[in-house]
Amino acid sequence: MNLADRAAVVETRIVDACKKAGRSRSEVTLVAVSKRHPFAAVLEAYDAGLRDFGENYAQELTEKSALSDLPDVRWHMIGHLQRNKCRDVVPIAHMIHTADTLRLGEAIARHATACGRDASVLVQVNVGGEAQKEGCHPHELAALLEQLRSLSSLVVRGLMTVPPVATDEHPASRYFEALASLRDRHGGATALPELSMGMTVDLEAAIAAGATIVRVGTAIFGER
Ligand SMILES: *Cc1c(COP(=O)(O)O)cnc(C)c1O
Repeated sequence: MNLADRAAVVETRIVDACKKAGRSRSEVTLVAVSKRHPFAAVLEAYDAGLRDFGENYAQELTEKSALSDLPDVRWHMIGHLQRNKCRDVVPIAHMIHTADTLRLGEAIARHATACGRDASVLVQVNVGGEAQKEGCHPHELAALLEQLRSLSSLVVRGLMTVPPVATDEHPASRYFEALASLRDRHGGATALPELSMGMTVDLEAAIAAGATIVRVGTAIFGER
């Protein structure tokens, strides 16, 4: 299979998952995660019709964005963002999925103000409460949301999570449902319209739980 074929398979999976969940396909954005794949692969995916691309590393995001003269590509920052990289990332990112502290939010807001635009962010939540993982703890979410919402030039659009590795006992669906219920408890879909969750192995479970953005790398671009 070439990239276009693999992208078509992913599209069918999303369509089927939406149908099963009684949702419209238009409610779910597919972000193609191109990290550690060359820019040529992004171009191939663009030709296959993809427009939203996700990168984990600030440097890779800025390099690929600089190569691209495609006007309608939307770049998503989905990896941990260091404050000193905000200067490079904020002007080019359509959405930053990994806001998880006030200090990072302040840095994003500062650079957004400097470029005269609003930055759209998602708050990354560590739903599994894993020690080593990025993301704010569910108990800190209310306070963080309130602080981030007070910053000018920063718009909180929703929540994002990377769940722990699923097991039979703790399937991914449990973590996706946890993120959806956190959203319900913190203003619901009106205040937080986006839920970024679900990857190659578990996008169906994420869509069933209400994902509005799925981030898919391997199924589109192949192994990294
Ligand atoms: C790499 C990555 C993905 C894509 O994972 P695949 O399993 O390749 O689909 C999605 N989200 C984040 C945050 C990632 O780091």
